[in-house]
Amino acid sequence: AAQTRVAAVTGANKGIGLAIVASVRQLALQYPKSPLKSGPLLIYLTARSEERGAEAVKTLESDQQLKEAKVLTQDGGNTTIKFYALDISQTKSIQEFSAFLKKEHPDGLDVVINNAGIMFDGIAMQGFDANVVKKTLETNYYGTLEATQDLLPLIRDGGRMVNVSSMAGKLNKYSDEIRNAFLQAAKTDVPAVTALMEKFKAAVTEGKEKEAGFPSAAYAVSKAGETAFTKAIAMVEAKRDRGVLVNACCPGYVKTDMTRGGGAKTPDQGAQTPVMLALQDIGGKTGGFWQSEKEIECL
Ligand code: NDP
Repeated sequence: AAQTRVAAVTGANKGIGLAIVASVRQLALQYPKSPLKSGPLLIYLTARSEERGAEAVKTLESDQQLKEAKVLTQDGGNTTIKFYALDISQTKSIQEFSAFLKKEHPDGLDVVINNAGIMFDGIAMQGFDANVVKKTLETNYYGTLEATQDLLPLIRDGGRMVNVSSMAGKLNKYSDEIRNAFLQAAKTDVPAVTALMEKFKAAVTEGKEKEAGFPSAAYAVSKAGETAFTKAIAMVEAKRDRGVLVNACCPGYVKTDMTRGGGAKTPDQGAQTPVMLALQDIGGKTGGFWQSEKEIECL
């Protein structure tokens, strides 16, 4: 029997993450037209809210296309979606999930998409203070970093890791000194990037982030950090020579709960670049930043 292909998506009970799960499955349903190899596909749809997670799985299961595919194709319709409660802001929760995956799938995973993220400031306009910064970094920076570091070793040779970051991480509102420090850190290692996040946090606590060369924007800085650490980790991973590609991307400006009525793209459109980086031929590229299905400069 063909080996089961395994994928995991964080923050997948709604928004872009949910669209990513649907789209990954869609490509599998289109086999043999899809670039995916044949065989059954198992996707872990993960997030904090179990209730919304269960609803999301139910919605995906009742999808008419899936029902038709199950009748029409032999293994194209052989896809399973399972909810797993994962809170990336909790070290214990990430460790439990990776231990579970290791036990269930000793041969490894094919794809991990780190999509979970939060935004308190900016569009939501809920202010900017040390607590907002702490909470935002906990999920978008430290949580995504831990999930990346814990799950990357579980990805089998030739697999993919995709981090859904943002163009909001562009370094256009920083002092030259901090901007250069970010560019340098991305080429150095994860501790160098983390040191910048700590510097930002400390400056905000003193109410002096502007003087220190940062913008007063928790989300933007967290995403700059996410893009930078993804580059640093991709560099180390490339040296392992396992053909595992690690990339960061921006989904575009997407209509979801996060953008509260804003957004130009549908979640399905927002899912396109992450799904491409997870499943399609990207010419072996790793450590890049992508938007609208193209590699661009971000930091
Ligand atoms: P939503 O707010 O619609 O969805 C966020 C998802 O993340 C939910 O499934 C939520 O589920 C989950 N989540 C939040 N916190 C955690 C946590 N601590 N642990 C695990 N899961 C968590 O946002 P979008 O779909 O818009 O955003 C998805 C990603 O795309 C984010 O990383 C965002 O920063 C990025 N992005 C979005 C843009 C846009 O225009 N929408 C633009 C650029 C980037 P639950 O609360 O149940 O855990």
